[in-house]
Amino acid sequence: MAGEKTIFKKIIDREIPAEIVYEDELCLAFKDVNPQAPIHVLVIPKQEVQSMAHLKIEDQELAGHLMLTVGKVAEMLGLENGYRTIINTGAEGGQTVHHLHLHLLGGRSMQWPPG
Ligand code: ADP
Repeated sequence: MAGEKTIFKKIIDREIPAEIVYEDELCLAFKDVNPQAPIHVLVIPKQEVQSMAHLKIEDQELAGHLMLTVGKVAEMLGLENGYRTIINTGAEGGQTVHHLHLHLLGGRSMQWPPG
């Protein structure tokens, strides 16, 4: 992907700090800097993928890995009573950082519908 590095790419490259809670060869999970719940973690692929809409068929394994990682991190963080997972896509989806990320929110009861 050409152009400016996203803030998340800078976190992957260790150019800016983040509170990393999990890492493997394909992804990174770190605490959201502006938490919307007692636990708010972002799970991101190390590969640069702009959004969920930019995933390709060859990213199928990566997409599954990201979902499984959310479950693994939730378990690591003790969210046995449940949690919410959110993926914002594009402008109307409320995506502000253009590197695919899965929000993992927990530690409180969630409301529905979201705003
Ligand atoms: P929104 O900004 O509307 O939540 P996104 O789904 O694109 O939209 O989420 C980006 C998330 O990244 C936000 O929750 C924001 O708090 C978080 N964030 C931005 N910069 C950092 C950072 N340096 N470290 C950790 N989290 C960050």
